[in-house]
Amino acid sequence: FGSHHELIQAHASLRPKKVAMIQEGRRITYGDLDVLMDRIAAGLQRDGIKPGDPVAICASASIEYGAVFMATLRAAGGVVPLAPSSTAQSLMTMLEDCGATILFLDAAVASALAPLRKSTGPTWVMLDGSDAGVRFEDWLPSSESKPQAVSMDPNAAFNIIYSSGTTGTPKGIVQSHQLRWLQLMRDKGHDYDADSAQVTLVSTPLYSNTTLVSFLPTLANGGTVVLQAKFDAVKFLELAQKHRVTHAMLVPVQYRRLMAVPDFERYDLSSFVMKYSTSAPFAGDLKADVLKRWPGGLTEYYGMTEGGASCVLLAHERPDKLHTVGCPFPGHEMRVIDEEGRELPAGQVGEIVGRSPVMMNGYLNQPKKTSEAEWYDEKGNRFIRTGDVGCFDAEGFLTLMDRRKDMIISGGFNVYPSDIEAVLVQHEGVLEAAVVGVPSERWGETPVGFVVPRDGCSLDASSLCSWANERLGKTQAISAIEVVSALPRSAIGKVLKRELRDRYRPRSS
Ligand code: ATP
Ligand code: MG
Repeated sequence: FGSHHELIQAHASLRPKKVAMIQEGRRITYGDLDVLMDRIAAGLQRDGIKPGDPVAICASASIEYGAVFMATLRAAGGVVPLAPSSTAQSLMTMLEDCGATILFLDAAVASALAPLRKSTGPTWVMLDGSDAGVRFEDWLPSSESKPQAVSMDPNAAFNIIYSSGTTGTPKGIVQSHQLRWLQLMRDKGHDYDADSAQVTLVSTPLYSNTTLVSFLPTLANGGTVVLQAKFDAVKFLELAQKHRVTHAMLVPVQYRRLMAVPDFERYDLSSFVMKYSTSAPFAGDLKADVLKRWPGGLTEYYGMTEGGASCVLLAHERPDKLHTVGCPFPGHEMRVIDEEGRELPAGQVGEIVGRSPVMMNGYLNQPKKTSEAEWYDEKGNRFIRTGDVGCFDAEGFLTLMDRRKDMIISGGFNVYPSDIEAVLVQHEGVLEAAVVGVPSERWGETPVGFVVPRDGCSLDASSLCSWANERLGKTQAISAIEVVSALPRSAIGKVLKRELRDRYRPRSS
């Protein structure tokens, strides 16, 4: 049984001069990273961090961020990576929920949090050298400092990641050291195509589970991480070309922007081995476009921070399955259940549940939400409910429809917004579409569409509505369409359908 920080130590001995991380012209070798981790771990111990204690980080990606992450593990603490894009109130709630006594942050987060800061709250250490708290350089113990050796409890938190909050308040998900180690080994077991030669461009924020499956394994492998703190499509391509990048994890909306860069083919991306995607629906035609125009393979993951259900699709191997999210990972068991919680036979549409060796024990401090998320099979095995609706085909590939909470029941029929969205984006003037159910006296609920026009196209809502309804089934008919300049999205790029629904909800005054 090992830990990620021990792998860094091994790389520091075996390949001390190898570059571990690059960020805007700055770089750190494995040798220097190991020394910096020792100093940070010693600082954490000096500040009273004991094995199992939470250490919060809320900042944009940087070399220091990466070092604090790994050093927390060296002190046997649990990393709590928080999203800087969260509201100040939500950050306060998460900080209190996890009980962190120390917070690494940057100026932007500090100014948002300042009005709510309490004297009893965590110590602030400023990663970017700003002065709203102790400056990182001043906080760091002297360069020879070494942490005391500590023993780690395999069941204690490696990290606490808050779910994206797409459907409500974020929930704290504890992933133990043991679980993370298993996950690392599991991911090596399937077609990961990565080793110490990998150069991974990380341009999704470091707090998300998404990035931890690109950032953590790259360092564990002894590869090089190139950090792009703020995503920009053209800069991404420039960085990829400059550093001969081999791997990248991107969310679908980033692929959409990259493929729309006018002179995309001008960039030399021949170094790419594998690209990854996860976290939100990835349209089949967009996957096909990426496969056609971007060298290297394309792997899609479907999963949830809770870790119960996960699927993998090697799109370059199975171009016939681009409409699916692949099949379950080895060691993952997945089922489909109906509204009453009864298991459904293969081929039927229902809620996906899953169990795996890397599944969470429960949500932090939320026993009720935990039990609501559980489902038990006839043998009493515990599964996690995904809240996602879909079905498996005869070969075991999963097609996802929608989140359960987003499904529309109109006139007694189940209507899948994704089916309607698929029709809307076929219109030549439509770039993106999102459909939600809104209250209707006649139907109970009725579908309403929000569409973003393609650049230079003007769309007429009512003629688009009739165009779509000619192509949709009777029960799917859209009541109204709104043309918008952008869809509301979370920082990780998921469409926030609850915000769209709220626009139609009668305000209580
Ligand atoms: P919350 O649980 O707080 O509402 P969230 O479910 O978005 O937020 P995450 O754990 O980050 O939090 O995301 C998991 C969800 O993301 C899945 O349940 C699924 O709806 C969606 N998802 C993940 N991967 C894919 C994929 N490849 N295709 C489509 N949807 C995906
Ligand atoms: Mg979720």
